[in-house]
Amino acid sequence: MKAVVLYGANDFKTVEVDKPVINKDEVLLKVKASAICGTDLRILEGKKTKDVRYPSTIGHEMSGVLEEIGADVKEFAVGDRVSIAPVIPCHGCYYCLSGRENACQNRVAIGYQFDGGFAEYVRIPAIAIKYGHVVKLADHVSFEEGALAEPLSCCINGIKKAGITLNDRVLIVGAGPIGLMHLQLAKSAGASKIIVSEPIDSRRAMAKKFGADIIVNPATEDLKDIVMQHTDGYGVDKIIMAIGVPAIVNDTLKLARKGGTINLFAGFAGTGECTIEANVIHYNEINVNGTTAFTRLDYLSAVSLIAAGKVNVKDLVSHVYKIDDFTKAYETCKSGEGVKVLIEP
Ligand SMILES: [Zn+2]
Ligand SMILES: [Zn+2]
Repeated sequence: MKAVVLYGANDFKTVEVDKPVINKDEVLLKVKASAICGTDLRILEGKKTKDVRYPSTIGHEMSGVLEEIGADVKEFAVGDRVSIAPVIPCHGCYYCLSGRENACQNRVAIGYQFDGGFAEYVRIPAIAIKYGHVVKLADHVSFEEGALAEPLSCCINGIKKAGITLNDRVLIVGAGPIGLMHLQLAKSAGASKIIVSEPIDSRRAMAKKFGADIIVNPATEDLKDIVMQHTDGYGVDKIIMAIGVPAIVNDTLKLARKGGTINLFAGFAGTGECTIEANVIHYNEINVNGTTAFTRLDYLSAVSLIAAGKVNVKDLVSHVYKIDDFTKAYETCKSGEGVKVLIEP
């Protein structure tokens, strides 16, 4: 089969490898759609190395059809259309027990410890089946949508961590796929005003299409002035940082009202070190938090919201490539010209 093999930082290509052989408690996924994520870009460029193996095949946003079923697996049949929740917690550590299975101390993930979705076939390990990480898709849900359940589930976690609720005035920094998913979820959660800040023209147009109330180009407009104008001088209740730029964290903190919450959703390159004025947090009683991955409940919620037509992920797909053209897909993603870029092997 064909797979994208990552040999090291900036060293990857599509090559012929052996088709995975499954054990009797595993299943084999024939990949139909596999999406490239911002995290994948950071891995491919060597900016994220934690839990990354060389050589390996990455890719953690995938859907497809079950092609082989191990003899001991009773809950699935050949031909089942499924989406894979790739991050699998241990269910035994303190974090799992205290409701943070997404941040499990011993979590393993398809696309990290197990070979991932940038391949024609993926071996789905027994623990993924045992803990319910193979999620059947309704017939009307496309494979593209099935693959995008993963980033949507992470955004559901983000919306919860930010505590977005009825009548909140929300700022979303960055209108890439993640910002645009947060925008839709914040609307569903009842936000009364959503301001989106994004320097790329095509992405601002997407934010408009998905119903942002105020759209700002921070390169040519004064974001702080606009935020204050639209919040009676208070600042917003909740902020989602959907872009991992350390240099803007400090200015962004100043856009929250006193007692507001800022969720640093996007991962930062390296350690993400930056300078912040701690007194902004102190005097304004700002809550600062982060988000990693998703719980299985978030994943099931994502699949359910997509199936119910409550979140539109399919219009986020801007480009689709064959696996042989992975490098082109990567370049498109990196340029910011694409919104969500998919591989359909
Ligand atoms: Zn992802
Ligand atoms: Zn755990």
